[in-house]
Amino acid sequence: MVSLQGECIFTGFACGRIFVLRHELPDISHERTSCAQEADRELRKYEEARKRVSDQLHALMKQAISNDESTILEAQSFMLSDPEYMAAIRSLITKEHLRAPAAVESASSHFIQTMSQVNASLFKENISDIQDIASRLIAVLTEECPADLRSLTEKSVVIADTLLPSELLSADRNLISAICMDRGGSASHVAILARAMGIPCITALNDVSLRASSGAYAALDASRGLLWLDPDEETVRRVLSLKEDFRKEHSRLISQSTLPAVTTDGVEIRLECNLESLDDIPQALTNGAMGAGLFRTEFLVLEQGRICSEDEQTEIYSSLAQQFSGHGQVTIRTFDIGSDKVLKGYGVREANPALGCRAVRFLMDNKDIFRSQLRAILRASAGGGIRVMFPMISGSDELDEVLSFFETVKSECRQEGIAFDEDIKAGVMIEVPSAALTCDALASRVSFFSAGTNDLTQYTLAADRTNGKTSGLYKEYHPAVLRLLKFTADAAERNGISLSMCGEMAAQVRLIPLAVGLGYRTLSMNPSSLPDARKVIRHMNYAACQALAKKALGMTNCRDIEKILDEFYERLGN
Ligand code: PEP
Ligand code: MG
Repeated sequence: MVSLQGECIFTGFACGRIFVLRHELPDISHERTSCAQEADRELRKYEEARKRVSDQLHALMKQAISNDESTILEAQSFMLSDPEYMAAIRSLITKEHLRAPAAVESASSHFIQTMSQVNASLFKENISDIQDIASRLIAVLTEECPADLRSLTEKSVVIADTLLPSELLSADRNLISAICMDRGGSASHVAILARAMGIPCITALNDVSLRASSGAYAALDASRGLLWLDPDEETVRRVLSLKEDFRKEHSRLISQSTLPAVTTDGVEIRLECNLESLDDIPQALTNGAMGAGLFRTEFLVLEQGRICSEDEQTEIYSSLAQQFSGHGQVTIRTFDIGSDKVLKGYGVREANPALGCRAVRFLMDNKDIFRSQLRAILRASAGGGIRVMFPMISGSDELDEVLSFFETVKSECRQEGIAFDEDIKAGVMIEVPSAALTCDALASRVSFFSAGTNDLTQYTLAADRTNGKTSGLYKEYHPAVLRLLKFTADAAERNGISLSMCGEMAAQVRLIPLAVGLGYRTLSMNPSSLPDARKVIRHMNYAACQALAKKALGMTNCRDIEKILDEFYERLGN
């Protein structure tokens, strides 16, 4: 039995068979072949690998869920028979005596380099096709088949070097009992998805994906970030018993979901939910969500691998509002495509995607996509209960442009006789430091703010939310982030607009008293976290939360703040 320590992303317990998924390819030997016979053998290996990859691509084409996906696979299949590319690989094997994997790597790099020099953005699709094909060929040649979560057939503990949100979305969530990753930040979107799906998840397990083998057995206690490979009987028994206790406590908390989230001194905190898919709604309602504070619409796109049509979106947004009617309003955030939420075929490769053409920047560059989404939101708003929210706003100039485009789309709808809610509220995410620092100007233009602490923390502290290596720096309670959050809350109050928090800070039991004390009385979080949040709120005193926030704002380092947060939480006696 091997015992490994990582960091908890989402609590829970699991035991089961392992499914390993690795994206990185093994090191390739650059040792040359020593005779013609050996070179012939390498050539044969290469031809067989080419045939296997071609079969893989055809099989994937049959399962493709969208036209875009089939087009990409067809293009890759075409590239696999490109005479020039293939001749280059063969020549490196026969004339330069490279082994097959090294020949594939070398020829592919040469092609990619040539295309990049001519025009990287023009050839971006071809470049990514070659990268994909080279990975597949090398994986087959080195007998490391690139696994795909869609090939899961039984409930498994997924162990991966890292995961993309789109990969997790494409899998059947019922077949994933837990996720363990070598690396990845706790505020990354894949972490957010794992929480939303209620999947126990551990990160920062270093090279676990190299140590684990598919088909072997694992057990984990995600609450403590512990994973055991080949666990002994006693460990399995203990984990299964903890899993059962956890299930019972969770059911008990869910049974209290109808109780109001009121502090001991009578202040009601509004609990809403963040949604990535309509599938999460039943759980959100069972757990007592009083509305959807954030619908991450880009996940619809990532799940389907394409941008849904205006009609499809209208249907989805209307259904969302209908399912929440009687509970609360829903806040539809326009597509936050970009950064780690990439959609194949859209956008250009950027050196710093988190600082690049993401969210409203992407939408203002792709007005057709923006227009059809806004029209769908407007059409759905005719039934009431819908607000619209713009992500990644960096200041009032950008907001003015976005709002002016929104007005244009509204007038187009009016001209076409399309009914919509004329009083539809528009708001912004406060997730870029410049927005927080100029929030008075923003507040005079919109009806509400929602603090996106995930990005606000990453941009304020210059610490990538997806990178496990910067997780030591990534702290929502850093004095700089707290000051921005307070500044935002005060501006909302001064300007009489609504305020909520929808970043992961709102879901962390140790940070909820601080968020509330800073002035955030509406918290939106993944549905799985609602029962625990309600429990904390019902034990805490609002005046004490305000005193806690005041004390934290007077502090200058994270260590001291962490200490008072821990003390406060322990005193709640949860
Ligand atoms: C945030 O940044 O805090 C947020 C809620 O948006 P997302 O996590 O989708 O970037
Ligand atoms: Mg964000």
